[in-house]
Amino acid sequence: MERIPLIAGNWKMHATIAEAERLAAAVVEAARGAAGREVMIAPPFTALPAVAKVVAGSKVALAGQNVCWEAQGAFTGEISPIMLRELGCSMAIVGHSERRHVFGEGDAMVNKRLRGALRFDLTPVLCVGETIEEREAGRTFEVLERQVRGGLAGVDLAVSPLVVAYEPVWAIGTGKTATISQAQEAHAHVRDLLGRLSQKKIAAQLRILYGGSVKPENADDLLRQPDIDGALVGGASLSPESFGRIINFQE
Ligand code: PEP
Repeated sequence: MERIPLIAGNWKMHATIAEAERLAAAVVEAARGAAGREVMIAPPFTALPAVAKVVAGSKVALAGQNVCWEAQGAFTGEISPIMLRELGCSMAIVGHSERRHVFGEGDAMVNKRLRGALRFDLTPVLCVGETIEEREAGRTFEVLERQVRGGLAGVDLAVSPLVVAYEPVWAIGTGKTATISQAQEAHAHVRDLLGRLSQKKIAAQLRILYGGSVKPENADDLLRQPDIDGALVGGASLSPESFGRIINFQE
Protein backbone atom coordinates (compact mmCIF):
# COMPACT_ATOMS: atom_id res chain seq x y z
CA MET A 1 0.00 0.00 0.00
CA GLU A 2 1.28 3.40 -0.95
CA ARG A 3 1.95 5.86 1.87
CA ILE A 4 0.16 9.09 0.99
CA PRO A 5 2.21 12.07 2.22
CA LEU A 6 0.60 13.91 5.13
CA ILE A 7 1.37 17.57 5.70
CA ALA A 8 0.28 18.54 9.19
CA GLY A 9 0.23 21.99 10.77
CA ASN A 10 0.50 22.42 14.53
CA TRP A 11 -0.63 25.93 15.39
CA LYS A 12 0.29 25.52 19.07
CA MET A 13 -1.04 28.39 21.26
CA HIS A 14 -1.48 30.81 18.37
CA ALA A 15 -4.41 32.48 16.60
CA THR A 16 -7.57 34.18 17.74
CA ILE A 17 -10.78 32.78 16.29
CA ALA A 18 -10.81 35.36 13.49
CA GLU A 19 -7.14 34.70 12.65
CA ALA A 20 -7.76 30.97 12.73
CA GLU A 21 -10.67 31.28 10.29
CA ARG A 22 -8.53 33.25 7.85
CA LEU A 23 -5.61 30.85 8.13
CA ALA A 24 -7.84 27.79 7.75
CA ALA A 25 -9.46 29.28 4.64
CA ALA A 26 -6.00 29.77 3.11
CA VAL A 27 -5.05 26.18 3.95
CA VAL A 28 -8.23 24.88 2.29
CA GLU A 29 -7.32 26.87 -0.81
CA ALA A 30 -3.69 25.64 -0.84
CA ALA A 31 -4.78 22.04 -0.34
CA ARG A 32 -7.35 22.14 -3.13
CA GLY A 33 -4.92 21.50 -5.94
CA ALA A 34 -2.58 19.21 -4.01
CA ALA A 35 -3.40 15.83 -5.49
CA GLY A 36 -2.01 12.81 -3.69
CA ARG A 37 -1.44 14.69 -0.45
CA GLU A 38 -3.31 14.66 2.82
CA VAL A 39 -3.45 17.80 4.93
CA MET A 40 -4.18 18.21 8.62
CA ILE A 41 -4.26 21.20 10.94
CA ALA A 42 -4.29 21.33 14.72
CA PRO A 43 -5.62 24.74 15.80
CA PRO A 44 -5.93 25.71 19.46
CA PHE A 45 -9.01 24.13 21.05
CA THR A 46 -10.80 27.49 21.25
CA ALA A 47 -10.75 27.85 17.46
CA LEU A 48 -11.86 24.32 16.60
CA PRO A 49 -15.61 25.05 16.18
CA ALA A 50 -14.95 27.99 13.84
CA VAL A 51 -12.23 26.19 11.90
CA ALA A 52 -14.42 23.08 11.55
CA LYS A 53 -16.94 25.20 9.63
CA VAL A 54 -14.22 26.57 7.34
CA VAL A 55 -12.74 23.16 6.48
CA ALA A 56 -16.09 21.33 6.16
CA GLY A 57 -16.28 19.53 2.82
CA SER A 58 -12.59 20.14 2.05
CA LYS A 59 -9.69 17.72 2.19
CA VAL A 60 -8.27 19.38 5.31
CA ALA A 61 -8.57 17.19 8.41
CA LEU A 62 -8.73 18.56 11.93
CA ALA A 63 -6.72 17.41 14.92
CA GLY A 64 -6.54 18.13 18.62
CA GLN A 65 -3.11 19.22 19.87
CA ASN A 66 -3.51 16.78 22.73
CA VAL A 67 -6.23 14.49 24.07
CA CYS A 68 -7.23 12.95 27.38
CA TRP A 69 -7.77 9.22 27.73
CA GLU A 70 -11.18 9.46 29.39
CA ALA A 71 -14.47 10.42 27.76
CA GLN A 72 -15.41 12.71 30.66
CA GLY A 73 -14.73 13.30 34.32
CA ALA A 74 -12.64 15.20 36.82
CA PHE A 75 -9.72 16.13 34.56
CA THR A 76 -9.41 19.90 34.88
CA GLY A 77 -7.73 21.49 31.90
CA GLU A 78 -8.02 18.45 29.65
CA ILE A 79 -10.07 17.76 26.52
CA SER A 80 -11.76 14.45 25.88
CA PRO A 81 -11.67 12.42 22.69
CA ILE A 82 -15.45 12.66 22.47
CA MET A 83 -15.26 16.45 22.66
CA LEU A 84 -12.69 16.47 19.88
CA ARG A 85 -14.84 14.22 17.73
CA GLU A 86 -17.86 16.42 18.37
CA LEU A 87 -15.81 19.37 17.08
CA GLY A 88 -14.99 17.53 13.87
CA CYS A 89 -11.52 16.21 14.68
CA SER A 90 -10.38 12.93 13.20
CA MET A 91 -6.85 13.02 14.61
CA ALA A 92 -4.99 13.99 17.79
CA ILE A 93 -1.35 14.77 18.45
CA VAL A 94 0.11 12.96 21.48
CA GLY A 95 3.52 13.22 23.10
CA HIS A 96 4.51 16.48 21.42
CA SER A 97 7.91 17.56 22.73
CA GLU A 98 6.36 20.63 24.39
CA ARG A 99 3.99 18.34 26.31
CA ARG A 100 6.91 16.12 27.28
CA HIS A 101 9.45 18.82 28.13
CA VAL A 102 7.39 21.82 29.26
CA PHE A 103 4.55 19.92 30.95
CA GLY A 104 6.41 16.83 32.07
CA GLU A 105 4.40 14.16 30.26
CA GLY A 106 6.15 10.80 30.19
CA ASP A 107 5.78 7.73 28.03
CA ALA A 108 3.16 6.13 30.28
CA MET A 109 0.87 9.15 30.00
CA VAL A 110 1.51 9.47 26.28
CA ASN A 111 0.51 5.82 25.93
CA LYS A 112 -2.75 6.45 27.81
CA ARG A 113 -3.53 9.40 25.57
CA LEU A 114 -2.74 7.43 22.43
CA ARG A 115 -4.92 4.52 23.47
CA GLY A 116 -7.71 6.91 24.47
CA ALA A 117 -7.57 8.47 21.01
CA LEU A 118 -7.75 5.08 19.33
CA ARG A 119 -10.65 3.97 21.52
CA PHE A 120 -12.70 6.92 20.28
CA ASP A 121 -11.73 6.69 16.63
CA LEU A 122 -9.20 9.47 16.55
CA THR A 123 -5.99 8.72 14.65
CA PRO A 124 -3.11 9.54 16.99
CA VAL A 125 0.02 11.28 15.80
CA LEU A 126 2.68 9.99 18.20
CA CYS A 127 5.60 12.42 18.47
CA VAL A 128 9.03 11.15 19.44
CA GLY A 129 12.45 12.73 19.40
CA GLU A 130 15.70 13.14 21.26
CA THR A 131 17.15 16.22 22.97
CA ILE A 132 20.49 17.66 21.87
CA GLU A 133 22.18 16.17 24.96
CA GLU A 134 20.83 12.73 24.10
CA ARG A 135 21.99 13.05 20.48
CA GLU A 136 25.45 14.21 21.50
CA ALA A 137 25.72 11.34 23.95
CA GLY A 138 24.97 8.91 21.10
CA ARG A 139 21.65 7.93 22.67
CA THR A 140 19.27 8.94 19.85
CA PHE A 141 18.19 5.42 18.87
CA GLU A 142 17.86 4.32 22.48
CA VAL A 143 15.57 7.30 23.24
CA LEU A 144 13.48 6.74 20.13
CA GLU A 145 13.13 3.09 21.00
CA ARG A 146 11.99 3.90 24.54
CA GLN A 147 9.47 6.49 23.33
CA VAL A 148 8.08 4.32 20.53
CA ARG A 149 7.82 1.19 22.68
CA GLY A 150 6.39 3.18 25.61
CA GLY A 151 3.93 5.14 23.51
CA LEU A 152 2.68 2.07 21.69
CA ALA A 153 2.54 -0.36 24.61
CA GLY A 154 -0.52 -2.57 24.35
CA VAL A 155 -1.40 -1.30 20.86
CA ASP A 156 -1.95 -3.73 18.00
CA LEU A 157 -0.38 -1.98 15.03
CA ALA A 158 -2.14 -4.31 12.60
CA VAL A 159 -5.53 -2.81 13.42
CA SER A 160 -4.68 0.68 14.68
CA PRO A 161 -4.61 3.69 12.40
CA LEU A 162 -1.59 5.60 13.56
CA VAL A 163 0.94 8.18 12.45
CA VAL A 164 4.37 8.63 14.02
CA ALA A 165 6.24 11.95 13.92
CA TYR A 166 10.01 12.07 14.43
CA GLU A 167 10.73 15.48 15.86
CA PRO A 168 14.23 16.02 17.24
CA VAL A 169 13.67 18.36 20.19
CA TRP A 170 16.68 20.48 19.23
CA ALA A 171 15.10 21.22 15.84
CA ILE A 172 11.67 22.31 17.06
CA GLY A 173 11.12 26.05 16.81
CA THR A 174 14.86 26.67 16.69
CA GLY A 175 15.40 27.16 12.97
CA LYS A 176 17.85 24.20 13.06
CA THR A 177 16.73 21.30 10.91
CA ALA A 178 18.12 17.79 11.07
CA THR A 179 20.27 17.12 8.04
CA ILE A 180 18.61 15.04 5.38
CA SER A 181 20.71 12.03 6.34
CA GLN A 182 20.10 12.45 10.11
CA ALA A 183 16.35 12.59 9.44
CA GLN A 184 16.28 9.66 7.02
CA GLU A 185 18.44 7.57 9.36
CA ALA A 186 16.11 8.20 12.32
CA HIS A 187 13.02 7.47 10.23
CA ALA A 188 14.48 4.21 8.94
CA HIS A 189 15.30 3.25 12.50
CA VAL A 190 11.76 4.01 13.70
CA ARG A 191 10.29 2.02 10.80
CA ASP A 192 12.54 -0.90 11.58
CA LEU A 193 11.42 -0.75 15.20
CA LEU A 194 7.75 -0.62 14.17
CA GLY A 195 8.42 -3.72 12.10
CA ARG A 196 9.91 -5.47 15.13
CA LEU A 197 6.85 -4.48 17.18
CA SER A 198 4.48 -5.86 14.53
CA GLN A 199 5.45 -7.04 11.09
CA LYS A 200 7.61 -5.56 8.36
CA LYS A 201 4.67 -5.22 6.00
CA ILE A 202 2.65 -3.32 8.61
CA ALA A 203 5.56 -0.98 9.31
CA ALA A 204 5.88 -0.43 5.57
CA GLN A 205 2.36 1.03 5.57
CA LEU A 206 2.74 3.37 8.53
CA ARG A 207 3.45 7.02 7.91
CA ILE A 208 6.37 8.63 9.71
CA LEU A 209 6.40 12.43 9.52
CA TYR A 210 9.44 14.63 10.07
CA GLY A 211 9.06 17.70 12.28
CA GLY A 212 11.54 20.37 13.31
CA SER A 213 11.83 23.71 11.53
CA VAL A 214 10.36 22.44 8.27
CA LYS A 215 10.03 25.36 5.86
CA PRO A 216 9.61 25.85 2.13
CA GLU A 217 13.40 25.92 1.67
CA ASN A 218 14.01 22.44 3.12
CA ALA A 219 10.68 20.65 2.61
CA ASP A 220 11.35 19.26 -0.87
CA ASP A 221 14.64 17.60 0.09
CA LEU A 222 13.29 16.18 3.34
CA LEU A 223 10.10 14.88 1.78
CA ARG A 224 12.00 13.13 -1.02
CA GLN A 225 13.61 10.73 1.47
CA PRO A 226 12.29 7.19 1.23
CA ASP A 227 11.18 6.92 4.87
CA ILE A 228 9.86 10.46 5.30
CA ASP A 229 6.13 10.38 4.62
CA GLY A 230 5.15 13.91 5.44
CA ALA A 231 5.85 16.79 7.75
CA LEU A 232 4.62 18.08 11.08
CA VAL A 233 5.04 21.82 10.79
CA GLY A 234 4.89 24.33 13.63
CA GLY A 235 6.05 27.88 12.92
CA ALA A 236 5.76 27.72 9.14
CA SER A 237 2.17 26.45 9.38
CA LEU A 238 1.14 29.89 10.67
CA SER A 239 2.05 31.47 7.35
CA PRO A 240 -0.41 30.58 4.58
CA GLU A 241 2.27 31.12 1.93
CA SER A 242 4.84 28.89 3.64
CA PHE A 243 2.41 26.16 4.59
CA GLY A 244 0.84 26.26 1.12
CA ARG A 245 4.26 25.81 -0.43
CA ILE A 246 5.06 22.88 1.89
CA ILE A 247 1.72 21.21 1.06
CA ASN A 248 2.65 21.56 -2.59
CA PHE A 249 6.22 20.29 -2.14
CA GLN A 250 8.07 19.09 -5.22
CA GLU A 251 8.64 15.35 -5.29
C1 PEP B 1 6.14 21.30 15.96
O1 PEP B 1 5.51 22.10 16.64
O2 PEP B 1 5.82 20.11 15.97
C2 PEP B 1 7.27 21.79 15.17
C3 PEP B 1 7.96 20.93 14.48
O3 PEP B 1 7.54 23.14 15.23
P1 PEP B 1 8.52 23.96 14.22
O4 PEP B 1 8.13 23.57 12.81
O5 PEP B 1 8.24 25.38 14.52
O6 PEP B 1 9.92 23.55 14.53
